[in-house]
Amino acid sequence: MIKIQTNQNPTNGKAFLAKNETTRSLEEALAQCQEQGMRLSRQRRSILELLWRCEEHLSAREIYDRLNQEGKDIGHTSVYQNLEALSSHGIIECVERCEGRLYGHISEAHSHVNCVDSGKIVDVYVELPEDLIQEIEARTGVEITDYRINFYGHQKSDAE
Ligand SMILES: [Zn+2]
Repeated sequence: MIKIQTNQNPTNGKAFLAKNETTRSLEEALAQCQEQGMRLSRQRRSILELLWRCEEHLSAREIYDRLNQEGKDIGHTSVYQNLEALSSHGIIECVERCEGRLYGHISEAHSHVNCVDSGKIVDVYVELPEDLIQEIEARTGVEITDYRINFYGHQKSDAE
């Protein structure tokens, strides 16, 4: 996870900083499942472990393939049903793409950097300056409680 803060004033940015540092661990996600009364089957646990380990955004198909490559015996339908249940309970992230849904391990608000060349999505926390948020609120009459920004671009040629 990459953190980008535009607001250097600690008295201004504090609430956002505190919130942004609460990316849940796998253990916390498992605890959250139990709090919500979700049964933690072996399959469900395997899916969560995979998402937390790889930190990517994967389709149900990719998750199914990877788990089976690892020798986990889990059916197609079970993967789909578990992903739906986990995302509808707010345990994992679900990104709607025209090609289908992708699932990620962070459920709280965050931004995405989308590489158009590779299709890769990188999670970033971008903190906008307080005065910009206030201006958006003033112009729209909407009190901003969170935001998710989508950045798009090409692979930089000098990147490693
Ligand atoms: Zn994400």
